Amino acid sequence: MRILIAACLLALVILPVVALGMARANYAPPAADAPAKKTTSDTTAPAKETTAVPAKKYSRSGYDVTPLPRARVEELAKKLDPEAYRVTQKAGTEPAFCGTLLDNHKDGAYCCVVCGLPLFSSANKFNSGTGWPSFFQPFDVAHVAGKQDNSHGMERVEINCARCDAHLGHVFDDGPKPTGLRFCLNGAALKFYEKSEQRPAESMPVKTETAYFAGGCFWGIEHYFQQAPGVISAESGYMQGSVDKPTYKEVCEQDDTAASKRPAGYKPHAEAVKVTFDPTTISYKDLLRGFFEMHDPTQMNRQGPDYGTQYRSGLYTTDDAQAAEAKAFVAELLAKNLFSGRKIVTEIEPAKTFFPAEAYHQDYLEQHPERGCHIGKPWWLNKKTAAAAP
Ligand SMILES: [Zn+2]
Repeated sequence: MRILIAACLLALVILPVVALGMARANYAPPAADAPAKKTTSDTTAPAKETTAVPAKKYSRSGYDVTPLPRARVEELAKKLDPEAYRVTQKAGTEPAFCGTLLDNHKDGAYCCVVCGLPLFSSANKFNSGTGWPSFFQPFDVAHVAGKQDNSHGMERVEINCARCDAHLGHVFDDGPKPTGLRFCLNGAALKFYEKSEQRPAESMPVKTETAYFAGGCFWGIEHYFQQAPGVISAESGYMQGSVDKPTYKEVCEQDDTAASKRPAGYKPHAEAVKVTFDPTTISYKDLLRGFFEMHDPTQMNRQGPDYGTQYRSGLYTTDDAQAAEAKAFVAELLAKNLFSGRKIVTEIEPAKTFFPAEAYHQDYLEQHPERGCHIGKPWWLNKKTAAAAP
């Protein structure tokens, strides 16, 4: 016992200096107070335009990462044991080789001891030899915030829980592949849940629903849906066609073959966007409203300069309730005669398999702000209509 205590004290004094003195890591996750999605300066999304709706923040893996108010953090912190309180609330460092999670090799998730947000996964844990639990990447990049720490005469990147700002440890750039990063954790900041264990609600993703929209080129539709309050992710892909796992090239050339030379039952794909959303924040009807503001549903197999069946307007529904709502919404639009008597050609069909588009099509407009899709702004990006939003 005496030897163990001596080893811990030695580690407490020496190892932090060795490990923390290493080079500052090139880790740039979203800061705790940064917007979850940045706006771009292209024609579809002016940089300064922001929604008036106080939106929740979600990570791409489906967790609510809205920063907790200070009062709520203080309330949660009162339940911590003294060591967890010292580490997470006072930026303390636990002695090396003494935490209970260092040698934990079980499958599961390492969650924030304060607010429960999953921060690291056993799949990304490695033995760094430093005496602290080490990971080469977070559970989700939006769950771990980083900030410059120049204390103790060193330049380091402190890591914190993105939801409650708990101090977790630091990140260094001497980790293994594929990231080259070493997230050095205080075990006292983490609560481990085995894979088979039921995690509490605060450590689970929000309950989501899925909706599919086809409104011409998927770049712009995806870009705008991604900015809607309550939307967790928007993904570009192909669906409703009869070819499995189509490529972009195949979809572009799908109208080149005469119908008589097609196999029986052939159907072309549509460029579509899969929208995962939190129905407690935004309803399917509100998404429909935005969808019809973004594109012209009276154009057959065309949107703006893009011609072809892949640019058709479509709503691909996941259940009877969505189908009923989609049909009712179109009927409502027609009743209002918003399109000068022109017919709405939007097809409404049960969703078939969604095939995600190639990686370079995802977040395309965010990565290529010089490009733009010729589509209208949905209500959540329009100051006047956003103010009247639910
Ligand atoms: Zn937390």
